Amino acid sequence: MLKNKTALVTGSTSGIGLGIALTLAKQGANIVLNGFGDHEGPKAEVEALGVKVGYHGADMSKPDEIAAMMQYIDQEFGGCDILVNNAGIQFVANVDEFPPDRWDAIIAINLSSAFHTMRLALPGMKQRGWGRVINIASTHGLVASAGKSAYVAAKHGLLGLTKAAALETATLPVTVNAICPGWVLTPLVQKQIDTRAEKEKLDPAEAKRQLLAEKQPSLQFTTPEELGALAVFLCSDAAINVRGQAWAMDGGWTAQ
Ligand code: NAD
Repeated sequence: MLKNKTALVTGSTSGIGLGIALTLAKQGANIVLNGFGDHEGPKAEVEALGVKVGYHGADMSKPDEIAAMMQYIDQEFGGCDILVNNAGIQFVANVDEFPPDRWDAIIAINLSSAFHTMRLALPGMKQRGWGRVINIASTHGLVASAGKSAYVAAKHGLLGLTKAAALETATLPVTVNAICPGWVLTPLVQKQIDTRAEKEKLDPAEAKRQLLAEKQPSLQFTTPEELGALAVFLCSDAAINVRGQAWAMDGGWTAQ
């Protein structure tokens, strides 16, 4: 379905981003990976699906590095057709104890990076007459949790950016939407489980159960594969009238 399209998935060396990259590649899309840590392993995993794969190590908190990555995609792949803004970090502390540098980093990586990739990718999508932007927000784009002010602010902002851009492209074959996952068992969440286990002297399985029970009625983690399948749907022709939406996949979290 996505043969001859190129997808950039930011923050795709692990977790949700890698899951979405693999699912898009299974539909034939060429993939540009981005993110920190080992990228050779993830690159080989996606290449095994028979598509063209690139990697750019842009730090998503740095607008000039983002611009260099978008230029690399234009030169090596002929442009970015599917943009998945997924890179994100977390930090947990109450507002009055929140380190200002963590606030700035979360706003830069979880929100402003999506503005920079979108402002650079949208002109090419419009020119080529096809495009999909999928912003990976969170249930925390829709509701809040204590201790996550920067993350909640960034994700609410990302939904606002999604809606505005969707209206600006409403008459074009370019759609802009967001996906709001609930808990997904990735390194970002494993850190929060470990902190809970240590603080409350729980064994890891109990810490995991409590984390889910607090918020996610299904008591099941959302998986990167499920999120990938939703991204594929948003890329399909059937989704042409899905515009500016914040699509929750959260085991009932925000239905409460
Ligand atoms: P993760 O920690 O497994 O992966 C994050 C990815 O972002 C990694 O590839 C990392 O290298 C990359 N990254 C981090 N900082 C970067 C930077 N400055 N520049 C470039 N890349 C950077 O996290 P995840 O759980 O897969 O999260 C992915 C996205 O999904 C995030 O936006 C997160 O907010 C969102 N999300 C996660 C959950 C969850 O439960 N895990 C729930 C809702 C939303």
